[in-house]
Amino acid sequence: MTAKVRRVLVSGGGIGGLAVAGALARHGVAVDVIEARADPAVTGIGISVPNNALRMLGKLGVLDEVVAAGYPFDEYVMCDATGARIVGLPCPSSSDGTPGYLGITRARLAGILRAAATTEGARPRFGVTIEDLADGPAAARVRTSDGQEADYDLVVGCEGLRSPLRERLFGAEHGPVFTGYSCWRARPRLPRRVAAMTKFAGATTDAGLVPLGEDEMYLFQVTAEPGNPRHEPGERRELLAERLAEYTGPIAEVRENLPPAEEIVYSPLFEVRLPAPWHRGRAVVLGDAAHAVVPHLSQGGSQALEDAVVLAEELTRRPLAEALPAFTARRFDRARHLQRVSSAILVREMTGHRPDPDELSRDMASIRAYLDQPV
Ligand SMILES: Cc1cc2nc3c(=O)[nH]c(=O)nc-3n(C[C@H](O)[C@H](O)[C@H](O)COP(=O)(O)OP(=O)(O)OC[C@H]3O[C@@H](n4cnc5c(N)ncnc54)[C@H](O)[C@@H]3O)c2cc1C
Repeated sequence: MTAKVRRVLVSGGGIGGLAVAGALARHGVAVDVIEARADPAVTGIGISVPNNALRMLGKLGVLDEVVAAGYPFDEYVMCDATGARIVGLPCPSSSDGTPGYLGITRARLAGILRAAATTEGARPRFGVTIEDLADGPAAARVRTSDGQEADYDLVVGCEGLRSPLRERLFGAEHGPVFTGYSCWRARPRLPRRVAAMTKFAGATTDAGLVPLGEDEMYLFQVTAEPGNPRHEPGERRELLAERLAEYTGPIAEVRENLPPAEEIVYSPLFEVRLPAPWHRGRAVVLGDAAHAVVPHLSQGGSQALEDAVVLAEELTRRPLAEALPAFTARRFDRARHLQRVSSAILVREMTGHRPDPDELSRDMASIRAYLDQPV
């Protein structure tokens, strides 16, 4: 494990996987990407991308495309359940012009990351997973479900929340833990009604609207779901409408214009807290597989992007045996801190504790100062 990596397998072609594949391929590393989904097309609703993630997309060379395909904004608006504005929290652009925040559809973001990775030379295969991994001093030999077998200097697991590679390396005890809360998301049959991420504080739930483009937006709502019940897809429209019943103003308008049940995405919220180090032998995990976080600071995808950039930097700077510990050392405390802060905001909002506008402004400024630190 003395030389720098030349051949890498990335398992999982989500946000973190595509980002690390593109970053490594750009440095001349031969990268294979395997993705369990048979269909390259990504479904899902939208994603909010804060400044720290946009800076990573800049390093990956795709910021301009992302900005053109999304909707940048520079404040985070807090309202009450009627839609009356309480405060606007500034999310300014950074000095290099990188926007403060942006909304984009998941399909567009994935499409941009995938095109960048393949243009740099990464080779994706869909409907493929790892069947066997034999770690050795010279290489990791990997057999995949499409019958191929190959040697790699490193295997990078970016398989998300339920990563089989994490379980293979570190055991089943580090799997996702349900927080007690879930998130509902939908694209209402309505034009955009907000010019920035806008949150509406209900009595026992929170709802929000995020602009996605000139004429598009998405709704999210976080609700307590004790015991993690299974909500059948066909019932989701009715269940979401019930949960939105207390809101008036813009959210009521959205409630009257929900899409069909099958277009509503229901996601129980989980955390993963994999202890350090995040590597074993010639394999390492990143993103949700290592540190899934609740979405209250839009940091899940953002931290996966930071992981991807940092891992690629370390791997192209030093030998593997030094790069992997350096990766965890640079990433662990930051990802853990943001998990704690995000989780505290979730609990605060769901237990009805509403800070006053000054406190919210101070909180937001201190979070932004933390996120502005170099990774
Ligand atoms: C309700 C909700 C809202 C969110 N909102 C935001 C937000 O606004 N901003 C933000 O930054 N983050 C947000 N997130 C978090 C964000 O979606 C994740 O943190 C991010 O997608 C993690 O990236 P990843 O690459 O680690 O995993 P993923 O993007 O989940 O990708 C994992 C990939 O691995 C594939 N895979 C799984 N198993 C295997 C296998 N065995 N072999 C090969 N491939 C496999 C999957 O099909 C998938 O494509 C939100 C999450 C939720 C639940």
